[in-house]
Amino acid sequence: MKRRTKVEDLPCGYGSPSGWGCGEHIDTDLPAEHRMSFTADHDEAIDNGGSLVAQVLVPMHRSCNSRKSNHAATEIWAAT
Ligand SMILES: [Zn+2]
Repeated sequence: MKRRTKVEDLPCGYGSPSGWGCGEHIDTDLPAEHRMSFTADHDEAIDNGGSLVAQVLVPMHRSCNSRKSNHAATEIWAAT
């Protein structure tokens, strides 16, 4: 996933069914501890019945990924 992100220049949140990520370029050469470094997130889309409808691997900035896990529910509604 990291190699594909670098080669195809995939933006943060690319392919996310729940709309996460800022859409900006990810520099895959940054060190892992950098807040804008590459991470791959398992994005889960859950339908209204509460069942899992999709699970994909989404490239994200470290900072965007941590923002997601901290405030998942509220920010999804705010962004919709
Ligand atoms: Zn981002």
